This record gives sequence, C-alpha cells and structure tokens, in this order.
Amino acid sequence: MKISSGSSLEIVEIYNKLDNELKILNPGCDTCGTCCHFDVFDHELYASTIEVNYILENVKVPPFHKEQRICPFLVDKECSIREHRTLGCRVFFCNPHYKNVSYEIYNKYYEMIKKIAVGNRFEWHYGPMITLLALQNKKEPDDVNHCSPETVSNEIEKPVKQRRYPGR
Ligand code: SF4
Ligand code: SF4
Repeated sequence: MKISSGSSLEIVEIYNKLDNELKILNPGCDTCGTCCHFDVFDHELYASTIEVNYILENVKVPPFHKEQRICPFLVDKECSIREHRTLGCRVFFCNPHYKNVSYEIYNKYYEMIKKIAVGNRFEWHYGPMITLLALQNKKEPDDVNHCSPETVSNEIEKPVKQRRYPGR
C-alpha cells in the first residue's frame, strides 16, 4: 500500500500547482461543506488509488461505512484533511460558470497523477473515493502493490467526470 516518499512529494507538487492555478481562476467557495454530502449535490467523488493511499499514509481514517454518502473526513462542516484531500475535492466548486473549465483542469491533473502511478508501477484503480478508501484501508501497511506497466494501463479507466453534477 505504501507509496514512496519521492512519489508523495510529486503528488504534493501537483496539488500545489493545481491550487495555484485555481487561485488565479478564483471560482469562489465559502467552505460550507455541502458538496461533501454527495447526495445533496447528486454527485460522486472519484479518486485514484495513489491519492487514497497518500491520504491513508498521512491521516487517521475515522470509522465509516463504504456506502455512506457523506465524506468521512467532513467534521463540523469542514474538511479535516484539507492538506491531503484528493484532486476531485480540490477541483470542485459549485460556481456554475466554472463547471466547463473544471473538466479541463481535472483531466490535466488526472494525467499528471496517473503518470506518477504508471512510472512507479503502482497499483492503479480509479473509482468512488469511499469505495477505494474501504478497499485500501483493509490492506496491511507494508503491502506494496506494484504492477507491470501493461497491467497498470489495462486497469486505467478513462478519465471521467470527477464528480457527477446535478442533472448530468
Ligand atoms: S464548493 Fe460550494 S458547496 Fe462546496 S464547500 Fe464551496 S461553497 Fe460549499
Ligand atoms: S476529503 Fe474533504 S473536501 Fe474532500 S469530500 Fe471529504 S471532506 Fe470534502
């Protein structure tokens, strides 16, 4: 399950780059936490294995059920893992004017993250964050999952919308 510290640094760099790009776009957010209630927004938060493992290596995961529709990291309407939250969390803003741009940005950074996983032959799955969290959380801490590049690329799903928006 572990990802190397070098890869963690690469993920941090990607997240920082993304956050800087978003600062310029400034879609606006009052951090109300409503979008972390997935049913309220009728959307799904998708993430990759490498991002979920990065969370698991850095924070304690609270008890959760894999079918729950509120992110387990939402505490008192605030994200308790802000520094380690996934690409999908970072890119999403409820501002409707920003929606189309968000897909482009998401796919650009998704490709960067995928490149780290493929380059390091890390296990790669892409799916609902809570499902992946439940799967990865069960593994032993030293259970390193390396795949051949072929296996990795076969397992890669096409980049899809990071979250399903109302009405889509
Ligand atoms: S993106 Fe919108 S719904 Fe989500 S926390 Fe910010 S203001 Fe609230
Ligand atoms: S990780 Fe944080 S930002 Fe992402 S859905 Fe959970 S509470 Fe919200």
